[in-house]
Amino acid sequence: MKSKIWLSSPHMGGTEQNYINEAFETNWIAPLGPNVSGFELDLENYLGGNKNVACLSSGTAAIHLALVQLDVKRGDEVLCQTFTFCGSANPIIYQGATPIFIDSEMDTWNMCPNHLEEAIKDRISKGIKPKAIIIVHLYGMPAKINELLSVAKNYNIPVIEDAAEALGSTYNSRKCGTFGDFSILSFNGNKIITTSGGGALVCNSLDDKKNTIFYATQARDSAPHYQHSVIGYNYRMSNISAGIGRGQMEILDKHVALRQKMNTFYKESFKNHKGVSVFQEYTDKIISNHWLSCITISEVAKFTKEEFQKAMNDANIETRPLWKPMHLQPVFKNTPYYGNHESESLFNKGLCLPSGSNLTDKDRERINSVIACFN
Ligand SMILES: *Cc1c(COP(=O)(O)O)cnc(C)c1O
Repeated sequence: MKSKIWLSSPHMGGTEQNYINEAFETNWIAPLGPNVSGFELDLENYLGGNKNVACLSSGTAAIHLALVQLDVKRGDEVLCQTFTFCGSANPIIYQGATPIFIDSEMDTWNMCPNHLEEAIKDRISKGIKPKAIIIVHLYGMPAKINELLSVAKNYNIPVIEDAAEALGSTYNSRKCGTFGDFSILSFNGNKIITTSGGGALVCNSLDDKKNTIFYATQARDSAPHYQHSVIGYNYRMSNISAGIGRGQMEILDKHVALRQKMNTFYKESFKNHKGVSVFQEYTDKIISNHWLSCITISEVAKFTKEEFQKAMNDANIETRPLWKPMHLQPVFKNTPYYGNHESESLFNKGLCLPSGSNLTDKDRERINSVIACFN
């Protein structure tokens, strides 16, 4: 059996180990230390725009602390893109609030500004003004940010930008992860860069960053003893994980370019396949990091999604359905939803394909030979 070709697996650059060794040599094995502040500085420099970054244990924790700081609590409602991974939505429940799911537009597959406005008007007419909006750049594709931010601004609702999949993507030349009142990043094992597990909250002020770290380290008051006036969390990133992150920052741009190259590879491989389209930027004002390359297979294609998936699987090549929309998840049944089944139709006809920066020419040959069979 040939070795497995994965969708997206960790890809070390080589210098990560040096930062970890340094942490061992100086005995900084704690959830603070020079690698944590070094990684935060690297991210601030990379993102631009004078941001203040707090590194945390996961992207999900980052969304949770954004909600905490926006004072989302029991009885509140939070608008959330339905076409996403559950990490975007679960923290709304942690706060005892209710998610309101908003469907996608078909250009970027992200939150539709019209459905967003429709939902806001309807919730307000029902007597509850939503407390926050969680927008996502799914698969690294930048959402329609100007349109979404303008709706949010009209109704004065803060925005949490979930850029977990979009580190290295840009919108009008500005980096994704810099557009929200809070923005979040993820360094989980399958993301653009990894710290084995981790995330970050991107803040607009130093005060917000300090407050984030306060909540992430059990909300300890300044007192000579352990004193707590509010509930905190154990969400800080460790100095070991941050060491991996610092090494990964050195090759981030290179790895983004390699993922974009995978997208180009798929455009070429599928160019003669009727009814198959490779997901790509609809305008040149956005650039996707192409974290995962995706295709949709329509009824006019000569083969079904299932047939293609089976052939790939037989060749030991991983594929995966697109994210199943949150409003269709058993755990979120009966949750309010605004849309017209756009994400459901994408879910039904779409697939994610191997997209890692560590794929080789040989891997691409194997993938291409399966794709060629379907022409
Ligand atoms: C991965 C991911 C998250 C959560 O990040 P973790 O670090 O895994 O907790 C949130 N939102 C999206 C869109 C993601 O892909």
